Amino acid sequence: MKIGLISDIHSNLEALSVVLDALKENNCTEIICCGDIVGYGANPNECIKLLRSCNLKIVLGNHDAGVLNKTPLYYFNEVAQKAILWTRKELTRDSLEYLDLLFLVDHSYPFHIVHASPQAPGKWYYILSLPEAIHQFRFFEKPICVIGHTHIPLVVEELNNQYRIIEEDEFLIESGAHYLINVGSVGQPRDGDPRTTCCIYDTKKKLFKRMRLEYDIKSAAQKILEAGLPKVLSERLFYGR
Ligand code: ZN
Repeated sequence: MKIGLISDIHSNLEALSVVLDALKENNCTEIICCGDIVGYGANPNECIKLLRSCNLKIVLGNHDAGVLNKTPLYYFNEVAQKAILWTRKELTRDSLEYLDLLFLVDHSYPFHIVHASPQAPGKWYYILSLPEAIHQFRFFEKPICVIGHTHIPLVVEELNNQYRIIEEDEFLIESGAHYLINVGSVGQPRDGDPRTTCCIYDTKKKLFKRMRLEYDIKSAAQKILEAGLPKVLSERLFYGR
């Protein structure tokens, strides 16, 4: 079986469509999403609708929570606040109800699924460095914990109490090892590579693979401008920052 892993779509329909097509082409029958469907981009309802048509396991992200008023606005920078307020007005009742059903952690799956950190899912910590990642391993027991939130892909492996960052885009999951995997961002990558990101886990081969895919950035960026959202949100898509 193949599982698609995605996060941080941020209302970017162009990027999400490319990713979902790629996951389908690769025969993924299930998709895990680490949250933040909305915020920043111009197509929140469309992204929610598209995701709902998938066989999906999904958790709540901080921007989703911000739109629902479950995380106060002062947690966000000015640009993010503007996008949250815009999204709140834009979302249909149906979309809001869907977001409202999401939990911070999914306990029903063989993976630990959370948006920001297993340590404190509702506190929205940023796990950016190896020491920060190492600290998180005491807060999950399953072999694999998948996260998003930073929009920067990161894989840390623990084997016999030894920790290392895995830089490769493809690697095998070792038995007895634990992994903290940031799957990167679909709709607003921040690692300097503007291409959209998704991952695939092949449960039979135990092979984990990260893909970067071109998408129509121009169209997504233009819609952000037309929606009256902050200009910087449109510009940053071209740089992946
Ligand atoms: Zn995000």
